[in-house]
Amino acid sequence: MPAGADPATAQTRAMHDAPLRRALAADAQLWADFLALCDCGGRQAGSASEQAALQFAHAHLAAIDRGARLEPVSYAGWRCREATLTLEDGGALTCNPLLGSQSTPSRGVSAEVIDLGRGAPEQFERRARDIAGRFVLVRHEYPFSPTHLHRRRKYGWAMERGAAGYIIANPYPGAGPVAGSSGRGGQAGIPALGTDFESAARLAANGPRLARVHLKLTGEDRAAQTGVALLDLPGQTEAWVVLSAHLDGHGLAESALDNATGVAVALALARAFAPLIAGCRRGLRTCLFSAEEWALAGSSQYLDRLSGRERKSIALNLNLDTVGGDARLTALTSEFPRLDAFVQDAAARAGIEFDTYQPLMGNSDHYNFARHGIPALRLVAGFGRPQSNVRHILTRGDTRDKVAPSELGAAAVLAATLLWQALNADDDTIADLRQK
Ligand SMILES: [Zn+2]
Repeated sequence: MPAGADPATAQTRAMHDAPLRRALAADAQLWADFLALCDCGGRQAGSASEQAALQFAHAHLAAIDRGARLEPVSYAGWRCREATLTLEDGGALTCNPLLGSQSTPSRGVSAEVIDLGRGAPEQFERRARDIAGRFVLVRHEYPFSPTHLHRRRKYGWAMERGAAGYIIANPYPGAGPVAGSSGRGGQAGIPALGTDFESAARLAANGPRLARVHLKLTGEDRAAQTGVALLDLPGQTEAWVVLSAHLDGHGLAESALDNATGVAVALALARAFAPLIAGCRRGLRTCLFSAEEWALAGSSQYLDRLSGRERKSIALNLNLDTVGGDARLTALTSEFPRLDAFVQDAAARAGIEFDTYQPLMGNSDHYNFARHGIPALRLVAGFGRPQSNVRHILTRGDTRDKVAPSELGAAAVLAATLLWQALNADDDTIADLRQK
């Protein structure tokens, strides 16, 4: 008989779900952890603040269970030595190099700037013959929407047409430059940087005459090491549900939304489930990744080095990334239709309203689980709501004041509801989730 059809199991489920929610509601450490992670700073991988966050995460998992461990992860790191962007007349423009950017020659590069507006494919197409040898200027977009065009795709289009460099501008006035990864990963690339609304306006305001800029960008590729903080809490079988969140961020602010929110909620969930997990059908593995902002390098390596058997033992991945900043939560269900139905059903039974979105989005660590055929979802706040506080991610506005304690509490309750079902559903239901 499948475990889900067992009346005793159903009773256990009913008995435990409510105390779990109460434990989360009473967990004052959730908010304290969020603030402590913000206190670490922006947590850019390779910085002292990232190391502090990694130690913090490991220590908090070890406080739940002594079996917590820190596994090393190597990635294509990079360090910036110098980055300046100036107009022809010597006026300085805001310049925040994208992680891993290609360097310019030591004397720098002078070239005209071609403004491609948003940077949609048709805009690249229309000006295809004007791109080679010039800097391409595009706009950053609200990342959580069905129509979003990712920074790295625009970067790729600029590079394949021979652009001299890539400039991505914050579309919001007074909000500083944007951050992000070039995605180059130590390979061939073009110089790439983020700038602010005001600098972009100066570059675009020259009428038919193109602005000319000088970029000097010196970075250094290096083999870098970080870690993943892990805690395994075994259930009654060899199967696992993986709860994940990335702890690294960008140097511009506190990386509060993205992703102190997800890490704090993941720690709260691990604490709340720890006393119950031995009675669950599957175990709970908490993975706190780093180097997510480096084209998902941390989770990519973690998943790639698991054996096929180990990957098969992972029933589901629930990834928390940017779960505050808006009250509305969405599950990105990575083109696993049965997973989409499964989480909708679980939330509906608990009386929680939320949305799902099925297309696969390669914007966080769940992508690497999905890539290996593991049913994977990302819980995210503010999907399709560009006016929400979530719009501050990747900018200097990503600070603790953009998050409400109630948002973290609600994210924890929804995630606990989904986890509880994933940990206890019958084996046939869980096996079905893998079907495409
Ligand atoms: Zn993130």
